[in-house]
Amino acid sequence: MIISNIKEEINKFKIAIDESNSIAIASHLSPDGDNLGSITATYGMLKNLGKNPVFILDDEIPKSESFLPYINSFVNPKDIKNKEFDLFISLDCADLQRMGSNIKPFFIDSKKTVNIDHHSTNDFFSEINIVNVNATATCEVLYDIFTSLKYPIDKNIATSLYTGISSDTGSFKYDSVKSKTFKIAADLLMYNINFNEINVSLYQSRSKEKTDLLIRALNSIEYYHNNQIAIVSTTIEDFNKTNASKLDSEGIVEFVRDIEGVEVAILLKEKRDSIRLSLRSKSFVNCAKVASQFNGGGHIRAAGGTFFELSMKQAKEYIIETVLEEFDK
Ligand code: 5GP
Ligand code: MN
Repeated sequence: MIISNIKEEINKFKIAIDESNSIAIASHLSPDGDNLGSITATYGMLKNLGKNPVFILDDEIPKSESFLPYINSFVNPKDIKNKEFDLFISLDCADLQRMGSNIKPFFIDSKKTVNIDHHSTNDFFSEINIVNVNATATCEVLYDIFTSLKYPIDKNIATSLYTGISSDTGSFKYDSVKSKTFKIAADLLMYNINFNEINVSLYQSRSKEKTDLLIRALNSIEYYHNNQIAIVSTTIEDFNKTNASKLDSEGIVEFVRDIEGVEVAILLKEKRDSIRLSLRSKSFVNCAKVASQFNGGGHIRAAGGTFFELSMKQAKEYIIETVLEEFDK
C-alpha cells in the first residue's frame, strides 16, 4: 500500500471503533513479544476509550511476556459462544492462514475487520488494512495510529508498545531500526515504564529447561558454504528429554545466527505432523523470499515456514539447496 493511504485507513479505523460495541483482538499461534505487545496495547487503549474488548488467544503465554499489562485477560476461542463481533482487529499477522483454524472463524463472522501489521508478505486480507512494511514492529504502527488519532498513551500502553518494538528489533539491533525507532522508544520511556523488568523478562530469564534444549539443538549444528550457512534442528525427543515447553525453541535460531561469519541460520523443528522452519540472516539473504517457497513468509532478516510430508533429512536437503541459490547471485 502507498503510505499516503495509511492516513485514510487510520480514519476508517477510528470510525469503526466508534461505531462498534463488541470488539475482538487476536493474532496468530506461537505469539511473540510484538504480537502480545500489540494486542495488550490495543486492549488497554480500547478499555481507556470505554470499550469492552475481547482478547482471543489459542495458545500459551510465554513466560518472558507474562509481565505485560492485561496479559491474563485473554479468552480461549472455545469459550466464546457468539463468534459475531462488530469489529475484529488482527495484529501482527501477515495472512488469514497464519491466524490459525480456531481463530479464523471469528474473523470471518465479524461485521468489520481490520489488519494492522508490518510484514512485507502481508496480503491485505481485511476491509481496513493499516500495513507499514517500514515499521520495525506492529507496535510501531500502533504508536503512529495512537498519536495520529490523539488517543492518549498511558504507562500500561507504553509498556506494551516498548516491549513489541524491543523484541522485534532484537533489542534495537536489526537493520529495520531507524532514528524514528529511537525517538518512539525515547517517548515511551517518558511514561515511567519499568525498563529493568522488561529487559530482564525478555532477555535475561532463560529457564534451565530452555537452556538444555538450546544445548541439544547446538549439538546438531552443521555448516555449509564456507560456514556461511548454519543449520540446527530440534526433535520431539529433545523436548521430552529436556522437559522443555513448545515455546522454548524461541531464541535458538538467533543464537546460531550470531556465530561469526554465519549469514543464514536455519532451525528445523520436528512436530507431530510437520516440520517448522525458522530462518534468520545477517546482511544480504532475503529470508522472507526463501520462506515463501515453504508455505511461509515474514521479513527480510527473519522468516518462517512449514514442511509437510517430508522427513527431517529431506527437509534439511531441500532448505540447504534453496538457501544456497541465494549465494549464487
Ligand atoms: P519465527 O522463525 O520466529 O517463527 O518467525 C520469524 C518471522 O517470520 C516472524 O516475524 C513471523 O511473523 C514470520 N513468520 C513465521 N512463520 C510464518 C508463516 O508461516 N507465514 C508468514 N507469513 N510469516 C511467518
Ligand atoms: Mn512483528
